[in-house]
Amino acid sequence: MRNFDRRDFLRFAGAASALSLAACATPGGGKGRVVVIGGGYGGATAAKYIRLWDPGIDVVMVERESFFTSCPMSNLVIGGHRRIEEIRRDYAGLHRHGVQVVNDEATAVDGAKRVVKLARGGDLPYDRLIVSPGIDFMFGDIDGYAAAMAGGRVIHAWKAGPQTSALRSSLERMRDGGVYVLSIPPSPYRCPPGPYERASQVASYFKSAKPRSKVLILDANPDVTSKGPLFKRAWQDLYPGMIEYRGNAKAVAIDAASMAVRTEFDTVSGDVLNVVPPHRAGDIAVKAGLITHNNRWCEVDWRTCESKAVKGIHVLGDATLSAPGMPKSGHMTNSQAKVCAAAVVALINGQAPNPAPVMNNTCYSFVSANEVIHVASVHQWNAGQATIIPVKGAGGVSTARNQLEADYAWSWAQNIWADMFA
Ligand SMILES: Cc1cc2nc3c(=O)[nH]c(=O)nc-3n(C[C@H](O)[C@H](O)[C@H](O)COP(=O)(O)OP(=O)(O)OC[C@H]3O[C@@H](n4cnc5c(N)ncnc54)[C@H](O)[C@@H]3O)c2cc1C
Repeated sequence: MRNFDRRDFLRFAGAASALSLAACATPGGGKGRVVVIGGGYGGATAAKYIRLWDPGIDVVMVERESFFTSCPMSNLVIGGHRRIEEIRRDYAGLHRHGVQVVNDEATAVDGAKRVVKLARGGDLPYDRLIVSPGIDFMFGDIDGYAAAMAGGRVIHAWKAGPQTSALRSSLERMRDGGVYVLSIPPSPYRCPPGPYERASQVASYFKSAKPRSKVLILDANPDVTSKGPLFKRAWQDLYPGMIEYRGNAKAVAIDAASMAVRTEFDTVSGDVLNVVPPHRAGDIAVKAGLITHNNRWCEVDWRTCESKAVKGIHVLGDATLSAPGMPKSGHMTNSQAKVCAAAVVALINGQAPNPAPVMNNTCYSFVSANEVIHVASVHQWNAGQATIIPVKGAGGVSTARNQLEADYAWSWAQNIWADMFA
């Protein structure tokens, strides 16, 4: 099954251009058109569920990549336990649900006229817009980062794809006895346990292939930000002497020539530099005027995920200003997307959205090839606080790392990808 291609788009846009922008927001004669920017955890889920819950609504999803590569499970590729092909999916399933997938980049949004502009030309009018662009990096916060990255001397691998493969190749090329440096930005960043899972995966590779090598974690945060005791126990038991953890060690500069990372207190050198820069909502959120907090994040009303800055636009996932206790995760984003999809369907049908939605999260982390720990939480709208907050007593963490959860974790991935795309 093919995606909505350039020729279809031109035909579609051509037909629509005969009408005024306002009128052509519902070109199929349906109830209305929702445009979705981003086909990741938030966008793909929202696009599919709107079509499932109301096939009378036209849904057009704009995604610049031609297939999806998952950040969750990408650390297993870096550790050598999975292949990158196993964490990819295509958009054919969405097409079967009647989502029109446009393989292009959204370059601008006119919130007043309700139009999205595309890189290859053409306007997409909408009745409601859902923006789930993930993150972009604040490279300027670390001196020398951009030049070092251009020269292939530093990798973030915090967006899955070519950088994931590049990091894996660097580790394979590294000499036994070398040092892998992982620098973690200050919270909030996407996937709180993700960096510690990555350190575990790299150590698991070193243990079997390069046992004299070392993992050095430079964490801008004072301590491990998620599942701390479980990660530290795993490092002690499984990789004794291999992982060194330094808290309050924020990267401020990179010297590509000497392969060194400077923190506020000292300078360390490594053979592989994996420095994750601080991030903010993806560029299109900036261009659409959706950023409201700290020049970084988009505030939304969590009952509908509608932007507090621009009416008619909903924002999902890592781009949002998280509610209290809410992690930036794929699972959380998938949950937000369903709340948003239900609200958009209700609003387009002239109904009131659910006044007290519930969301949930589970994050599994592989501490070795076959042992996993998890953290889970449930979040519900609280009218008194006018936000969504964790439900007391719901959720928690694993009591200890175990192999059963490795099966659960890989199944979680298969299921959430099916939920998004199948
Ligand atoms: C190493 C790592 C491990 C992780 N592990 C887990 C885990 O185990 N469990 C978990 O729940 N979460 C995990 N996460 C977090 C998870 O990946 C994110 O929270 C999730 O991807 C957020 O979804 P999103 O829709 O906001 O962004 P994304 O999934 O990144 O999707 C954004 C999409 O928008 C597209 N896009 C952006 N701008 C445009 C534009 N202008 N035009 C067209 N397309 C555009 C991008 O190409 C991308 O496909 C992990 C993250 C990392 C980095």
